[in-house]
This record gives sequence, C-alpha cells and structure tokens, in this order.
Amino acid sequence: MAITCDFLVIGSGVAGLSFALEAASFGDVVIVTKRSRDESNTRYAQGGIAAVLGAGDSFEAHMRDTLVAGAGLCHERAVEICVKEAPERIAMLRRIGARFDRAEREQGPHHEDPELDLHLEGGHSARRIVHSSDMTGREVERALLDAIVAEPRVRILEEHMAVDLIMLSKFGGPEVCAGAYVLDVGEEKVVTILSRATLLASGGAGKVYLYTTNPDVATGDGVAMAYRAGAEIANMEFYQFHPTCLYHPQAKTFLISEALRGEGAVLRQLDGTPFMKNHDARGDLAPRDIVARAIDFEMKRTGADHVLLDITDKKPGWVRARFPGIYSECLRYGVDITAQPIPVVPAAHYCCGGVATDLDGRTTIPGLWAIGEAAHTGLHGANRLASNSLLEGLVFGHRAALALKDAPKKKTWPEVPDWDVGEAGSPDEAVVITQNWDELRRLMWNYVGIVRSTKRLTRAARRIALLQEEIVEYYWRYFVTRDLLELRNIACVAQLIVECALARKESRGLNFTIDYPETDPKDARDMVAKRGVTAHLRVR
Ligand SMILES: Cc1cc2nc3c(=O)[nH]c(=O)nc-3n(C[C@H](O)[C@H](O)[C@H](O)COP(=O)(O)OP(=O)(O)OC[C@H]3O[C@@H](n4cnc5c(N)ncnc54)[C@H](O)[C@@H]3O)c2cc1C
Repeated sequence: MAITCDFLVIGSGVAGLSFALEAASFGDVVIVTKRSRDESNTRYAQGGIAAVLGAGDSFEAHMRDTLVAGAGLCHERAVEICVKEAPERIAMLRRIGARFDRAEREQGPHHEDPELDLHLEGGHSARRIVHSSDMTGREVERALLDAIVAEPRVRILEEHMAVDLIMLSKFGGPEVCAGAYVLDVGEEKVVTILSRATLLASGGAGKVYLYTTNPDVATGDGVAMAYRAGAEIANMEFYQFHPTCLYHPQAKTFLISEALRGEGAVLRQLDGTPFMKNHDARGDLAPRDIVARAIDFEMKRTGADHVLLDITDKKPGWVRARFPGIYSECLRYGVDITAQPIPVVPAAHYCCGGVATDLDGRTTIPGLWAIGEAAHTGLHGANRLASNSLLEGLVFGHRAALALKDAPKKKTWPEVPDWDVGEAGSPDEAVVITQNWDELRRLMWNYVGIVRSTKRLTRAARRIALLQEEIVEYYWRYFVTRDLLELRNIACVAQLIVECALARKESRGLNFTIDYPETDPKDARDMVAKRGVTAHLRVR
C-alpha cells in the first residue's frame, strides 16, 4: 500500500527542512532521509551564512561579490533574490531558536543587528558571515529539526533512501512526477510514496571524488534521479574543490574553514615559503577556485603531497576561542594549530550544477521541485561564493513552499504499480560494488579534477561508460541495496560532470582545462544536459 502525502521531501538538510517547516502549515509532509535525520552536508558547514547585516555593507556589495565569483554565469535575478531575502531568513532561524555568535564590540551606528558577530571570508568584500562558532551548520540543523519535531503534519522517515522518481509517463500517463520509490533500508523493501509535489533536497555529490569534504550521504542521488526521469540538469562541470582539507591518513573528510585565511592564516610550501601572492594579487584571500588551483600547481611543481596552512602568528588563546571545532579536531590527529602549521590538501566540496530550476524551485518536470545543493537556481554561476549555499537552501526552501501554498489539493491518487523486484536475487559478488566504487572515485580524481584536459576527460568518459554497463547489469540482477544505488548514482553524476566538461570549450570559474585556457565571452551560457540529448550551451 502506497504512502500518500501532499509533499514528499527527499533529504533532511537545510533546504528540505526549511521547506518542510513552512509547508507544514498548509500540507502533510513526508521527509525521507537516507541515514539519521541530522546526517547531511548541512551538519558539517563550519563558516556560516552570508547576509548583509553589517555597518558599511550593502546588498549591492554582496551581489557584486557573488557575481564576481560566478565568473559571468550567475543569473542576476537569483542572486538578487538570495541576497535580499537573506536577512529575513537569518531572522527566521533566530526566531526558531538558532543561536549565532554575538558581537563583543560595537560594530558602528548603521549596524542593523548589533547583536551578531559577522565574519569575513575569502571573496567577500565585507564582514557578513553569520556564524555559530565554527560549527554553524550543526546549529542550523539542530534548530530546524527541533522546530520540525513540533510540527504534527511532518513525518520523518530515517534510513529511507529514494531509489527513483515515479514518472506517470512510464505507466502510460503524462510526463508528471507523482512521488518516489523509496528503499526502507531496515526492512530491505521498496515502498511507494505518492505526493502532490516531490522535492529533491538531497544535497551534493562530493563522494564522486576520491577526496571530499562531504559526508558519505553526498552521492548526487537527486541529480541522478532527475536525470533518469528526463529533467534538465545544468552546469555539472563546475565542481568546487575546497582548497584546505586536513591532510591526514585517518581524517578522510575534515575541512579547515576558509575563515582561517579570513583571519590571517597563510598558505606555505613545506619549506615555509608563502606562495599565494605568486598566483593572485589577493594572496591568501583569493576566491577558493584560484587557491585550490594554486595549491594543485604547487603540489605538482614540488612533488609534495600537501601544503601547509599557518595560523601560528595569532595568540593561542584567541585561536582556540575562535576556532574551537577545528582546534580540537586537529588536536585529535596530533596537530596543535596554535603551535604548528596544518597539513592541507584540496578536496571536492560543492556541486555548483544541479537540477535546473526556476526561481521557486520548479524543475522542467511537472510535480518535481529541487532545492538546495541538488538544484541549479543560477545563484552560483561558474563558482560559488563561500557561505552562499546554506543561504540558498534557506531561501529556495522557503520560496518553493510559498509557491506551492495555493496549488490545488489532490482528490484522487494515480494507479501506480508497486516496485517490481522481477527476477532479482541476493547479491553474491558484493566486491563488484566496492571495486567499481573505488575505481570510479579515483578516476574522477585523477582525470576530472582541478585541472582538466580533453584527453583525460575522453579517457574518463570511456571508463565511466564501461563501469555503468557493469553497474546496470548488477542493478537488474540483484536486490537493491544502499551501496548499489549510491554507486549507480555517482556513476551517473560522474558521466554528467565529464559530459558537461567536455562540451565546455573554455576555462571559466571552476572549469579549468589546459586545452582551452581562456574564457570565451560567447560561451557565457549554461551547459544543459538531458537524457538522450548531448550537453550543450544554452541561455536558460
Ligand atoms: C564540510 C563542509 C563545510 C561547509 N561549510 C559551509 C559554510 O560554511 N557555509 C555554507 O553556506 N555552506 C557550507 N557548506 C555547503 C553546505 O553545507 C551545503 O551546500 C548545504 O548544507 C546543502 O544543503 P542541502 O539541504 O541542499 O543538502 P544536505 O545538507 O547535504 O542534505 C541532503 C539530505 O538529503 C539526504 N539524501 C541524499 N540522498 C538521498 C536519497 N536518495 N534518499 C533520501 N535522502 C537522501 C541526505 O541524507 C541529507 O539528509 C559546507 C559543506 C561541507 C561539506
């Protein structure tokens, strides 16, 4: 028997929860989430949320900084909306109990909210990062979840992984999304969930690369499901690499926030020589794509497997108070950041592309919406400005809910068959999954990383196609498991990244290729990919 609801939300990060909180006042919401409810990229966000609240700052300045980072591809209206709606979203979070750090000093007579301490981050021309120590995401997630738990119309299903969208066209109906098939991991069965609107809030896809700052849930499921269903996907070639992840064999995903560089930390080669000024006039405060490329360059040039990030110039007490999370996590791995430089490497961090949406989160498929990191709204363009992504989830989660408020109620539900297990049996060669998983992530790291070439991309495309053949065969032969579904999804995302990167014959923002090192003004358009259609540039 199918579960029915007004709104099916796939994912419980900042985007999905923001939507659910708003939508709960006019509809029944089911949130499915792959693991525990708080496991998400959101939970690990350190830096904070960008919002114009400080003396001397302005909407124009935040918009300008976002547009500069976006390298000519931001949709100006999306930027304007996010920037102008940011203060109200911060106010909403505070209303539901989010605790952000307060200013100890007077920030000037024009400060609109003298209570909040605002940080500066790379790429921002003013102090505008609202934060909760260096664990902002955890506090945002906590506050949203606490508020959601009090909503009787919201039901959260943990350990439930969406497998595929239910497209009525598959059963002879129109091209409409009517919900999703969802794997109940504990029960090992696939359930049918029908909804008036289905929201992909499934976050990023960092696990497509060998090194990533993202947690294990970030396997691009929303993008892959939408692509399989026939939705337009945009700009997948723009994958942001965070320049500074702790380099330590046991610390596979610990990020060292850009706020350190904002506060004066310096990148150095292993012999202590600072190098960022050789790459950009802004030095250590250059945007993160430039910093990541500079580190990649220095590592390749010197043969080193990491570089150093040094904040030892600052007083130890101040460092410990300002970065308690980073301080204690690094200490766990034997690095006292007050006394020694931190070994760092770049790692896949943020997916700027995603399921193409309008300014309310509608995708190109009726009934299907996308919000947060899974979506491409046009905010980030070719490169995301730091701390704009929690904001995007908050703003578009809210906007999607407002847009759905007056949508007609469903009176009847479509006839949809239950998930068909067909001839599938129990897997007897699970090693195929681990082998393909490793191979895919390593080849993406080596061939489709920070600096690209047509030759390496073509090689990657061939390998991915082969892996996909094996994965599909396995998919049809055996019962679905979370590992298998995730592998199928990262392979799809890998295919999309390579396809888009090959089709963009220029370097821009995060897409840097040695074969086309210049930016071509006539290519200042989005790359649109769709099943059955080769990725191509188009004005969206
Ligand atoms: C280490 C780190 C630091 C960051 N720092 C900042 C920062 O300071 N400021 C900032 O603005 N941004 C930051 N970001 C980026 C930001 O955290 C994310 O872009 C943002 O949280 C994405 O929110 P989301 O709701 O779209 O997705 P997520 O928070 O990733 O949530 C996705 C949810 O979907 C679920 N899910 C995925 N697939 C499925 C499926 N098939 N079925 C069911 N559920 C599924 C996941 O389990 C999860 O609950 C950081 C990211 C990382 C990893």
